[in-house]
Amino acid sequence: MTQIDVVGLTKRYGTTLALDGVSLQAREGELVSLLGPSGCGKTTTLRCMAGFMDPDAGDILVDGTSVTRLPPQKRNFGVVFQNYALFPHLSVFDNVAYGLAVRRLPKAEQRARVADALAMVRLQGLEDRLPRALSGGQQQRVALARALVIRPRLLLLDEPLANLDARLREEVRWLIRDVQQQSRITAFYVTHDQAEAMALSDRIAVMKAGRVAQFATPREIYQRPAEAYVARFTGDANIIPARPRDRTADGGFHVPFGGVMLPVPGVDGIRPGDPAMLMLRPEALSLIDPGAEGVIPALVLGTAFLGAALACEVSLADGTRLRLQASPHAPVQPGMTVGLRVDTAHAWLMPDVLS
Ligand code: ATP
Repeated sequence: MTQIDVVGLTKRYGTTLALDGVSLQAREGELVSLLGPSGCGKTTTLRCMAGFMDPDAGDILVDGTSVTRLPPQKRNFGVVFQNYALFPHLSVFDNVAYGLAVRRLPKAEQRARVADALAMVRLQGLEDRLPRALSGGQQQRVALARALVIRPRLLLLDEPLANLDARLREEVRWLIRDVQQQSRITAFYVTHDQAEAMALSDRIAVMKAGRVAQFATPREIYQRPAEAYVARFTGDANIIPARPRDRTADGGFHVPFGGVMLPVPGVDGIRPGDPAMLMLRPEALSLIDPGAEGVIPALVLGTAFLGAALACEVSLADGTRLRLQASPHAPVQPGMTVGLRVDTAHAWLMPDVLS
């Protein structure tokens, strides 16, 4: 088990500033995801950590000791890539044993450790197969076994599920979580898929243009995003310009919305009167009888049946459009006037920053 500190990583490719002071930590046994859109610097961060690339500035510490100047093989990290990177002419056994053979471990120990690693990823019985005789999911499990068998201090995974179809992706995602928790190995995981990051991570670093926009637990990132960029990247969200009137007694804000005054929690630094952004996740909104007291009248613009829910788009008197999910049995149709209720516990006020 290992504690990792990434401190102020900076990296330029020519004139492109790919990393602009990335700092992250993983505590022992923690899985930390780097989440963000294409080009935000996730892979560059991971490659610097693995030692495949030198940062221009910054440091990578393992249990307080810098490894930034060590070559990859001296770091003792396990790495799993998107494209498996298995040796095509070697059997499953030899692929997994490779790192042990390089380290010249006795044959008997190699056999025992390969058997353990293959059992962990549930691939016993396939030792003699060549990679081309395996499915994508099985190949990725071999790659995972190969990374784990060396008992790395840190596991680095770069979009390991990207080449798998949706069903396999979910299966291998659970396996990775299981294996990581069982072996209590510290891990960093690169993905642009928010559902994957939410399901797997102890903490998520949401990256934006070479920086960490927010580093927190999945729950915090989802419920208390630091800015609209994070809110948008971590699930469906209605994000509406808003100007808080004053503070509530419990430290929140009074925000005029749809003709009523909503008491909502929010980012602490916002000052009353400042332009801000109100986040309403779809589950913060529900439809009720338009005649009820204190409801916000809304016009239904469109609906889509999703099976477990009815997705609705509504518009308020001032033209604000909102998306929400109603019961699949709700008798809601385009053109109807409905009442909108806001569960302010699921609302969140953020500063108005460029995103
Ligand atoms: P993706 O999800 O598409 O892999 P990413 O978040 O991993 O993206 P990086 O691959 O780290 O992003 O790239 C960060 C920035 O650096 C991007 O602007 C990218 O175009 C640039 N970049 C990456 N590799 C190189 C390179 N070898 N030469 C020049 N620019 C590069």
